[in-house]
This record gives sequence, structure tokens and C-alpha cells, in this order.
Amino acid sequence: MNPFLKSLASSLLILVSCFQGLNAQTSDEASVALIGARLFDGTGRAPHEQSVLVIRNGRVEMVGAIGDVNIPDDAERIDLSGKTILPGLVNAHGHLNEDQSDRPIRTKLAEQLRLYADYGVTTVVVLGVFSDEELVVGASLNKEQEEIDLDRARVYVAGDSLQNLGTAEEARMRVNDYANAGANLVKIHITGGPNDMTPEVYGALIDQAHSRGLRVASHLYYLEDAHGLLDAGVDVIAHSVRDQAADNLLIEKMIQQNVPYIPTLTRDLARFVYETRPDFLEDPFFLRRVSAYQGDIDIVTGADYQATSRSPQRQADKEGLAQGNRNLKTLSDAGVLIAMGSDSGTNQGQWQGYFEHTELEMMVEAGMSTTQALVAATSGAAAAMGLDQHVGVLQPGRWADLLILDANPIEDIRATREIHSVWIAGTPLSGVP
Ligand SMILES: [Zn+2]
Repeated sequence: MNPFLKSLASSLLILVSCFQGLNAQTSDEASVALIGARLFDGTGRAPHEQSVLVIRNGRVEMVGAIGDVNIPDDAERIDLSGKTILPGLVNAHGHLNEDQSDRPIRTKLAEQLRLYADYGVTTVVVLGVFSDEELVVGASLNKEQEEIDLDRARVYVAGDSLQNLGTAEEARMRVNDYANAGANLVKIHITGGPNDMTPEVYGALIDQAHSRGLRVASHLYYLEDAHGLLDAGVDVIAHSVRDQAADNLLIEKMIQQNVPYIPTLTRDLARFVYETRPDFLEDPFFLRRVSAYQGDIDIVTGADYQATSRSPQRQADKEGLAQGNRNLKTLSDAGVLIAMGSDSGTNQGQWQGYFEHTELEMMVEAGMSTTQALVAATSGAAAAMGLDQHVGVLQPGRWADLLILDANPIEDIRATREIHSVWIAGTPLSGVP
């Protein structure tokens, strides 16, 4: 690890242990019972049409149909008749690179995580940081979220996406650096370009990550690379295969190796959609947090950006997205684990919070059922990233991270935008909606 990273890591470790001492949760907090809502528990099972959800110490204590759950005498009762409760959304592929100001990095990361949470995205897996400092601070935010009252999305971080490494030795060393700095997983880039890591190098990288207990998620575009990565033991395919149809061998490998697939359809949409001013920029749901988005709005609606969006290279991504849509339908129908991920927070016009709802809508337009899309955005994304014992499912012991809606998204996926409230660790976020 470089010396800067090392000293930053150790000073943050001290900070984290101070927080833990001050904020250790008590074990005798009164419970809260949410009563009467439709409840989709994230697994894909049919919802309880009238449910009881009991929360204690930030976690789900009991959940079931009214009549099947004994509500504790001490519980504060909250009537949610007519509402729909879902697990908070899990974005299996996000980033925290939106705020380019020179404010303290901790402030910038925490604010972006709050923006996600304002839209009901209560867990974000950062598939690639953009600096050593972002990794170390992101890892410390990750540790804090086990201990303190949270008013932002939970975060899990990969180091910056590893690419173009020349030797197996270098690959193993970089993985060790990230593991030592507190990374939760490893992200790599295989682009199909001439400088890509060879299968031998990424094979060593994946092996090293596994020996450190870390999963490896890969950027890719081509079917051929997906095969190579699967043969080398990759854990997560973090974008759509966009050059050709997924073949039977791919499906077989993904199912046998239990490798999930993150389509990131909005990432491909963002490549060309600003060729003109898209209607969604006037969507009231988008405009709720327009102050956070304004800088990017000015950029993507400018003449220069529109011209770039019309370039042949970007227009070609229309066909890439169409192929990605077809492959999503094929892989979902075949039973591959699908995880919602948007790739938001990387480049301009990939809106943290808003685009996860667009992603869900696009998944349904690609042919998934509303239930399948909601599973992908809750238990599917959590399982894909190894987080399903913590989030993504409303079962006893899991965090009580909730998205509560005024409408039913199983009938219409756009109902995820009708936010009644967002809860993290059993507490509603103030100022939401
Ligand atoms: Zn990404």
C-alpha cells in the first residue's frame, strides 16, 4: 500500500473506533409495528396484502400477515393501510463520483449516499472508486453503518477498477493493496481493447481476491470476454453483454457457477439520450432533488454535449442497448440471477437515485415482470453482492431498511416513484418525500 493510503487508513480506523464507543446501540429499544400495509418481502413470494412488520433495534423482528404476528405490548403502532412496503432498493452497481467540488471527501460521499436514500435506494455497491482517498473514506463509511444511526444509504466499496495490468504479480499486489485498505470487493475492466489484462492475469487477480475473501465484479461488453471471465471464476458480470446474443453455454456457465448479471441499461441510455432534451428532465420525481442535479443538467442540455451524444460512436450504443435488452430477457427467462444496477454517479447525466427507478422501468420494458424487476432490485442485488444476510429481504434479523409507497409497484413499476417514506435501520428519513 502506498504511504498516503496507509496513514489515512490508520487515522480513520481511530476515528471509527471512537464512533463505535459513543454510539453502540442499546439492546432494549422499544419496538415499532407497521400495520396494514401490503408487504413485498423481496423474495418474490406473493405479498402479504395486509401485513405486520415489527422493528426493534433497527432490524426486522417479526413480519407476516395480520393475525399471524403477535405484536409486542410495548410496540408503537403505526397504521399504514393502503401503503406498500418493500425492502429499500439495492443498487448493485453505483458510483460516488458525481460531486467534483473540493469540499472534504467525507462530506461529498455522505451527501451522495443521502441523495440515493432520498429516492429509496438504501444500499449502494460502489463498483469502482476514483482515488485512494475515496476508497479509504468509503470503507470507513461502510464500517460506521453497522454501529450508528444512519441517515444515508449503506455503502460497500471496490477500489478503482483494475485494468490493463501486465503481470499476474502486479494483479495480486493490487488486490492485496485494496484488501488492506478495507475494500469490500474488487472491480475490474475488460473492454475488448488491445491493452486488456490477459486471461492469465485476470485469472491470477480473481484467485488472489478469493484468497482475501473478496468477490470480483467485471465491466465488459463482449460475449467472448464474458466467457473468458466466467472460465477464470469471476463472481459478478457488472454490465450487459451488448455485442451479440447470449448463447446457451453462457447461460449454462452463469447458472452452474451462480454468477449474477447486472444489466446497467440506464448507463447505455445515458450515452445517447441527451442528443435532445429528454422529457424526464421535467418529471416532478426527478425535480424533487433538482438542486443536486442542476450542475449536470446544465452540461447535458448544452449544445456541446448534444453534439457529442449524436456522434456515431455514441449512436452505436442504441444497438448495444437493444442487444442488452434482448440478453436481459434471455438470461432472466433462463433463471440467471439478475441484479439491478444502474452505474449511476459516474459520468454526467447518470442520476443517482432517479435512474434506479428508470432502470426498473427499463427492465420491465425489456420483458421482465414487475415482480422479477423488484426482486432484482432487492434480494437479487443483495445476493449478487453477498449482502443478503443484511439487506434486500424483509425477514427477521435483516436491517429494517424500507421503501414505503403510496401505490402498488407490482401493478405498475412506475409506482416505485410514489414514495410515502424511506426508512433506514428502522427510522424514517426526515424530509422524504
Ligand atoms: Zn460502473
